[in-house]
Amino acid sequence: MKDEAKTTEAGPGNFIEELVDQELREGKYQRIVTRFPPEPNGYLHIGHAKSIVLNFGLGAKTPDSRCNLRFDDTNPEKESTEFVESIERDVRWLGYDWGERALYASDYFEQLYEWAVKLIEEGKAYVDSQSPEEIKENRGDFHRPGVDSPYRDRPVEESLDLFRRMRAGEFDEGAHVLRAKIDMQSKDLKLRDPLMYRIRKKTHHRTGDAWPIYPMYDWAHGQSDAIEGVTHSICTLEFQNHRPLYDWFLTALGFELPNRPKQIEFAKLAVTYTVLSKRRLTRLVEGGYVEGWDDPRMPTIAGMRRAGVTPTALRKFCERIGVARRDNVVELGLFEHILREDLNATSPRVMGVLRPLKVVLENYPEGKVEWFEVMNHPEYPERGTREVPFSRELWVERDDFLEEAPKKWHRLAPGKEVRLRGAALVTCREVVKDDAGEVVELRCTWDPESPGGTPSDGRKVRGTLHWVSAAHAVDAEVRLYDRLFRVENPAADPDVDFLEHLNPDSLEVLTGCKLEPSMAAPEPGVRVQLERLGYFCVDPDSTPDKPVLDRTITLKDTWAKLAAKG
Ligand code: ATP
Ligand code: MG
Repeated sequence: MKDEAKTTEAGPGNFIEELVDQELREGKYQRIVTRFPPEPNGYLHIGHAKSIVLNFGLGAKTPDSRCNLRFDDTNPEKESTEFVESIERDVRWLGYDWGERALYASDYFEQLYEWAVKLIEEGKAYVDSQSPEEIKENRGDFHRPGVDSPYRDRPVEESLDLFRRMRAGEFDEGAHVLRAKIDMQSKDLKLRDPLMYRIRKKTHHRTGDAWPIYPMYDWAHGQSDAIEGVTHSICTLEFQNHRPLYDWFLTALGFELPNRPKQIEFAKLAVTYTVLSKRRLTRLVEGGYVEGWDDPRMPTIAGMRRAGVTPTALRKFCERIGVARRDNVVELGLFEHILREDLNATSPRVMGVLRPLKVVLENYPEGKVEWFEVMNHPEYPERGTREVPFSRELWVERDDFLEEAPKKWHRLAPGKEVRLRGAALVTCREVVKDDAGEVVELRCTWDPESPGGTPSDGRKVRGTLHWVSAAHAVDAEVRLYDRLFRVENPAADPDVDFLEHLNPDSLEVLTGCKLEPSMAAPEPGVRVQLERLGYFCVDPDSTPDKPVLDRTITLKDTWAKLAAKG
């Protein structure tokens, strides 16, 4: 904890950026070309944001450097246009522009096919007609060497003919595959004649039914980078052991450094109290554990956007955590801290009451309305003021009243005087209860000599509460979110399904909330601080007569304190 807090304050640095800067200084490269290569089989999450910030950052190193958005769409079963569109929306929202360069591995299917033919012709690839089970069995494992396929040395002409007919759709799935001819005895399992193509009679979201065969990711990925002139092929650590294979393909096709992508691996981002693998996120969505990919509790970019996270905060977080080669888990608290800093600076203040309790000011004239001018942001007077109405009947927060209050209670209680923010001082005189004994109303008096909440005699009033005029209040629904998981690392134990750790109380929906009238018919996406309650964002479920607010995050920040203790 101690060390972590220290490194994150200063930032652990970014070894890839340092390397690239050095290569540019030394003239090894004149410009940098990177790509962000998502597979469109799910929505982007906060881990992808790290990769986006890194790749687009490198792609802006010199004026003619660039970063492509490339969809690695080689697996038609799981991919869709919905995912493509969500990815484009999310990358753009984060603040990055790929110009005309929304590229697709599927655009290279023809080129990849021709290259595959070339490798067959050169004796570097062959069609294998073993069953999938035989292929698996004969690949061996770490302790067992591989066994050559009986088809490994079939004549080039025969492989060529079969491969053409695979493409023509003449065979069923599983009948044949194309394999690179590398080394079945290699200690590196990936080099034991890896698959390049398999037959899949599936409709692709872009190429339709044009292809009955699809390239394996390992065959498509490096070559797609080479086609695009990518100089630095940045990927996460799990691809480190694919590198010899990628290099073998590139060498076989005649790409040599510096005219071929250089692969550099970095550690994936992991964050406490969440899961980031698309497989797991897909289970949350498909199992109905959340409302969808953009549920505000999801660590997806779409979910965070809906919750009210700012792109600035997300980018800052990605920069602050840095880029390293060693896996580590980042505390969610750090993200929340950065988010609060940004929201504090950017969100206008408004008043709203989540659990309303009626206050009647007995000495305030019926029908009278006063408009008090309050600041939109206490630290930035230049952001102006707005007027909030004050009248005889008000709403205050139920939690701000206690019938039996301890000594240090500075909020409402029988006989206690409090300040209503920006308006006046009021004193609680009487508590009204219903038949069940539930407090339903407070009868209070108002001090007419306390304009804006400042007493004329200078007496001290400690508590300041938020409030809303009942006659002017906007009814709203407010959704309060808590962490989706109860434990720091929900996927830590392979014997326990991560769903077991779901927090059953991660969503609380409050209806009948009361907002000040400036919040009538707000635009979805508008962010505010509800005074004393947290930061909120207007949800797309809002209707003109009923705003729905999502709580982005509470006001309380424990991270800064923890970090300072360090
Ligand atoms: P997942 O593990 O969530 O299924 P993935 O790596 O299969 O992710 P891709 O769509 O292939 O998802 O990822 C696109 C890019 O984002 C890749 O370059 C990948 O390395 C990177 N990426 C994915 N997850 C993370 C993460 N947690 N941290 C950093 N980069 C990530
Ligand atoms: Mg992937």
